[in-house]
Amino acid sequence: MGVKKVKADIQGTVPVFGSIMRRLIVLTALFLTVTGRETFNGHQVLRITGKDEVQHTLLKDLAEKEHLQLDVWREPGEISAPVDIRVPPKSLQAVKAFLEAEDIHYSVMIRDLQVVLDQEMTQMSFGAAEPKHTDDYDYGTYHSGDEIYRFQDMLVAENPRLVSKIVIGRSYEGRPLNVLKFSSGGRNRPAIWIHSGIHSREWISQASGTWFAKKIVTDFGRDPVLTAILDHVDIFLEIMVNPDGFYYTHAINRMWRKTRKPNPGSSCVGTDPNRNWDAGFGTAGSSNNPCKQTYHGPMPHSESEVKAIVDFIRSHGNLKAFIDIHSYSQRLMYPYGYTKTPCRDQIELRDLARRAVTDLATLYGTPYKYGSVINTIYRASGITIDWAYNQGIRYSYTMELRDTGHHGFLLPANQIIPTAEETWLGLKSIMSYTKENTK
Ligand SMILES: [Zn+2]
Repeated sequence: MGVKKVKADIQGTVPVFGSIMRRLIVLTALFLTVTGRETFNGHQVLRITGKDEVQHTLLKDLAEKEHLQLDVWREPGEISAPVDIRVPPKSLQAVKAFLEAEDIHYSVMIRDLQVVLDQEMTQMSFGAAEPKHTDDYDYGTYHSGDEIYRFQDMLVAENPRLVSKIVIGRSYEGRPLNVLKFSSGGRNRPAIWIHSGIHSREWISQASGTWFAKKIVTDFGRDPVLTAILDHVDIFLEIMVNPDGFYYTHAINRMWRKTRKPNPGSSCVGTDPNRNWDAGFGTAGSSNNPCKQTYHGPMPHSESEVKAIVDFIRSHGNLKAFIDIHSYSQRLMYPYGYTKTPCRDQIELRDLARRAVTDLATLYGTPYKYGSVINTIYRASGITIDWAYNQGIRYSYTMELRDTGHHGFLLPANQIIPTAEETWLGLKSIMSYTKENTK
């Protein structure tokens, strides 16, 4: 049916429009040759919902079929939960025919990914005058890695008594792994760790991280809750955990999730840095195939981006909360991901999660689900917060920001500030509670 409609549209097109289109296509091709950016013309994102165990298993198998070159945006979780998959044009017919033959329900979440990406490009900060002060930084657009690095240096220079920059290591490609330390004084105070961008394509997380950094310096001394937090604990914030991946999403492939380290013996690059931690490493819930989005890497902490955090946290020794920020699906989750065994502090973590998502929703009513990773989304092994929790960091959480799958990873820029604002309320609940319950 879809094919017929396209044919009719093509035949009905007037010649002038056709010539403009051709010119546009030529221009686009030229642009690509110059920039080398991967395009996603005709790629669709399908939202697929299995209705029972049998369909659920079929979906899992489908996602594994390598020749179809599918990119799973949202993995199969509970039986009735939707699975979002990006399908390249060459596999569309096969995938849709399969779903229809098996009577599995699906809808088209994104009809043509490139159209959405082109739109996103128009919302970037290109061409804008470079800000000389963080007051002039445009928090409502998406920024490049260079701009985020410069932002961090400006923030430190403007607030030397509150903020300092620690370089905890280097990425595989040699970029500095910057951590901002917010501290009102004291020595080795109890601390809270927040990071964003471990998965590079989840742009709303780095954008929110940048906004949080500015929010902290703005509100310290003004907002009594934040001020009380910083009177007792330090906050560490790493905005770009995976800078190589992030640069790659800007320069080459917007859909890049993993690190950029090559895998010997494979043509596929990168490891999923959120499957690379020494907590149930390599068990079900990650892949041993370097071509998969959830490849766990050759060994725990093989990625320098992960190892840098591990070393820093161990040497610090006084972390009380750890929050890992992702997108999308609007969830706040606590350990574990690799085992169904509830974590020791499950009841407390659950109560605090409920409180945080309630506070978050007071601003715009955005609904969040909460629970342990394995019960809320799916089994995931080697994940950040499981490692953090097993190190004794009790308040370990992972957050999936907006949305629930209308735009997916391509959240429009006009949602950056509202998303960051509401997330901040959730973070403040967790940080405040951590401060109260930390000796
Ligand atoms: Zn993620």
